[in-house]
Amino acid sequence: QTIDVASSSHTYTITVGKQLRLSPYKYLPDNFPRKKNRLLILADETVASYYLEDVRTAYAEKLPVHTYVLPVGEEMKSFSGYEELLSACLQTGLDRESAIIALGGGVIGDLAGFVAATYMRGISLVQMPTTLLAHDSSIGGKTGINHPEGKNLIGAFHQPEAVIYDIEMLDTLPKKEWLCGFGEMIKHGYIADPQLLEQLKQLNQCAALTISDKLLASSIAVKKEIVHEDEREQGIRAYLNFGHTLAHALEQTAGYGMLTHGEAVVNGMVFALYVGRRLGYDGPDAAEELRWLRAFGYSFTPLKQMDSARILQAMKHDKKNRGGSVRYVVLADAQQPIIVTLDDEQLLTYMDAFKK
Ligand code: NAD
Ligand code: ZN
Repeated sequence: QTIDVASSSHTYTITVGKQLRLSPYKYLPDNFPRKKNRLLILADETVASYYLEDVRTAYAEKLPVHTYVLPVGEEMKSFSGYEELLSACLQTGLDRESAIIALGGGVIGDLAGFVAATYMRGISLVQMPTTLLAHDSSIGGKTGINHPEGKNLIGAFHQPEAVIYDIEMLDTLPKKEWLCGFGEMIKHGYIADPQLLEQLKQLNQCAALTISDKLLASSIAVKKEIVHEDEREQGIRAYLNFGHTLAHALEQTAGYGMLTHGEAVVNGMVFALYVGRRLGYDGPDAAEELRWLRAFGYSFTPLKQMDSARILQAMKHDKKNRGGSVRYVVLADAQQPIIVTLDDEQLLTYMDAFKK
């Protein structure tokens, strides 16, 4: 499956399939090997242990390749992780003709992407996602790191030369990470693609491991379309925040790492469905959706146990809010996202009522 993306800087291709890691040049622009002088592959320790050798050997067919392996975890998406990588780039002798290969999940993608966006004012980047979640994070050009004050507060838009998504690498992904990635696929289904949503409902948890390239490509297509129309997040890209306003608040209140992002997003989406109905809209019914999502493997304990006042405080900190009230994505009807503004009192009332 291939998807072409026309970004404002250049056009690139997303390829989804099996064993792509073994012949990456096939999925890169034809002139790529001629125009580059060297490559630096970045991966975390886990991904490196499984796939770095394959990928290194494949790229080494045409270009000098260096590798750099980072510890696993969100902590690397920090100033110190960023500095460490910049130093690695300098030591490797990367220049404007070099490229960085981000082999990993969203953490490596965001961090390596931000290094590529800023090193010598920007060099080439190739995204090779290895998690289900990264089908989302590797598309759209957002790169960045965290600040102690909050996630993703520092960053840049930087589009890759190509996204090479070898879904065979998903075979080694732990179940927890599957649920994380499915959260975003389900989101894409709710906001834009009824067929995708239906197919996801048909999968049961065990079948999750046999996810097809077609299903993934549908989910990628939703993100691509939205991002294409609104590359710099001034309008409809906000729909991708469906479920995320509450999700970020839940993650923050629970303490990062206590709750997976996917779980938080699924909780947030169900609450957003509830809010939509309370506002008089005709979107899917929260209680009904909750049933299949629970069977799929998601827990709704976080939402049910939340302290409404604390969650509200956290929501108001969200960098996407304007002014004092909270901007919320709800569904006006199936696959009809809209943005509403909610005041404190409404939010508290809805949260308290939802818990019952
Ligand atoms: P991650 O990169 O930390 O990967 C999750 C875990 O899976 C890690 O422990 C990793 O070592 C392991 N792993 C990765 N691939 C594996 C494989 N094939 N087999 C076995 N283990 C594997 O996290 P993630 O969930 O992929 O991404 C989360 C990050 O993505 C967050 O920092 C988030 O902010 C970011 N994100 C960015 C965007 C964007 O638009 N840029 C969008 C959504 C999320
Ligand atoms: Zn998300």
